[in-house]
Amino acid sequence: MGKVIGIDLGTTNSCAAIVENDQPVIIPNSVGGRTTPSIVAFTKLGEILTGDTARRQLATNPKRTFSSIKRQMGSTWTANVDGRKLNPQMISAYILMQLKKDAEAFTGGPVTDAVITVPAYFTDAQRQATKDAGRIAGLNVLRIINEPTSAALSYGLDHGESTKVMVYDLGGGTFDVSVIEIEDGVITVLATSGDNHLGGDDFDARIADWMVSEFRTASHVDLSKDPVAYGRIKEAAEAAKKELSTADTTNINLPFIAMNRQEPLHLDMNLSRAKFEALTADLVERTAGPVNNALRDAGISASALSRVLLVGGSTRMPAVQKKVRALTGKEPSRNINPDECVAMGAAIMGSTLGGNAIISREAGKSLLLLDVTPMSLSIETMGGMATRLIERNTTIPTRYSKVFTTVGPYASTVEINVLQGERPMARDNRSIGRFFLRGIRRAPAGVPQIEVTFDIDANGILKVSARDLDTGKSQSVTITADDRMSEAEIEQAMRDAQMNMGVDMVKRETAELSNECRVLGERVDRALHADRKNISREEKKRIREDRNALEKLVRSIKPENATEDVLARLKEAKAVLDASAGDLLARTGM
Ligand code: AMP
Repeated sequence: MGKVIGIDLGTTNSCAAIVENDQPVIIPNSVGGRTTPSIVAFTKLGEILTGDTARRQLATNPKRTFSSIKRQMGSTWTANVDGRKLNPQMISAYILMQLKKDAEAFTGGPVTDAVITVPAYFTDAQRQATKDAGRIAGLNVLRIINEPTSAALSYGLDHGESTKVMVYDLGGGTFDVSVIEIEDGVITVLATSGDNHLGGDDFDARIADWMVSEFRTASHVDLSKDPVAYGRIKEAAEAAKKELSTADTTNINLPFIAMNRQEPLHLDMNLSRAKFEALTADLVERTAGPVNNALRDAGISASALSRVLLVGGSTRMPAVQKKVRALTGKEPSRNINPDECVAMGAAIMGSTLGGNAIISREAGKSLLLLDVTPMSLSIETMGGMATRLIERNTTIPTRYSKVFTTVGPYASTVEINVLQGERPMARDNRSIGRFFLRGIRRAPAGVPQIEVTFDIDANGILKVSARDLDTGKSQSVTITADDRMSEAEIEQAMRDAQMNMGVDMVKRETAELSNECRVLGERVDRALHADRKNISREEKKRIREDRNALEKLVRSIKPENATEDVLARLKEAKAVLDASAGDLLARTGM
């Protein structure tokens, strides 16, 4: 394995690092920056811009420029650019490609392996989307790790006595607090909290608003109405904010910001730190709630914390540091750059996975790496989908439960088909065990609650059990490592998965949508029955026709052979029924 890069794929900025001579170092980007704006733009000439170049044309090309795409990861959000449909994974992949290119320029050789970080609260779908983004960018994602865990690794906190640490992460657009426990080289996230809409951008906006209002008073011109002027104001506001992290006062000077009766107007203002802190005091105060929630959820008081780590560029603000001190009674650690420590931790993890012995900043000590599951484990669900319970590379021992329901009405038996592999459709994975859970109480589709639990012990033995939460009936199967895929099979499966990624996404989406359509059909039937005395003949007829058309289409579709075209037809038919039956469903509360 070659060199492994660590990537902090952030909401506002991304950062990449690599271990060289046993030390993590930040990979500078092509314009010399140590972090890269997570922005992607598509120009009208068909060029794709990333990072600083994309950011610079944000004000003039807002419709074709995408920022904060991390907020959409794992969702069905798409953008249409010149007839091309782009999902969050694809857009993120462009950022990752730029980081990969910068890493290759820095190391002078190809870079293919990476560890990427995600917020601790990211769901399986969001983690999977991040991994997919890596693959689209041509990266072999060795592992997805939690951002607070990565921060702790960068501080070399994975050794020594058992400790509890708070990671206070205030970035450009989001605020995350995590309480983690480090014990025997294993880092566990005990609790997370935060505010998805609080970050450095809000501080910039306060300065920008203040600038606009001061200028209006002095010159009677509203700069917020002029997008280009306002773009310059926001940029200057951020620069002023950063300066006030070290200076007591800053001068903001924007010549030729507007015209008044053919006369050019210039903006020239001074902003003191005290004024800035007064303008933003409530924003700093808003971080208190999540800090207290995280401590409460972790079941500890602040005095039980051995350290508080500051992450995210916005923790450079003195008022924020003061608040952290007040909230925790601790002097926060900030000897590693807050906007770089997550990437550094990921590089350290990457170096360990790459087989290098020394991975800690404290030379000579190595991180205890527990065994991990080599492939994802899933069960087959409706429409032939493989629904994951345990992700590839999860540290074992581990246990995970998920509650499923039935899609067919009045089923009394469900079959649990246990699968191993990375592909979204069941039949493309390997079936490693199968059993029936009988005696479920017969009920309409969607009502039974079947809890499926995967339990892997330290020896890699997997026990799968299914329990009907209503009757308490349960059934299980034990699968040993021998039943699972060999190393060669795993490699082949990974290659297949990579080759088929585009087609697989369509298949998965079709299978998911088919299931949604079946459930919708059942809901419409129940609603028609419930409203039979009141519904008009015409409405009933129209809904029936749309429902039957959708059902016919769903029956004719095999998700495993689905194409973009099939998926589009299915979406259309569902939209038709959604529209005609919307009222009925709302009235009947179905
Ligand atoms: P991150 O997402 O961690 O890169 O954080 C980016 C945010 O940190 C942006 O809102 C920046 O304006 C902010 N930031 C970076 N450096 C400073 C600084 N010296 N003082 C205040 N905020 C900063």
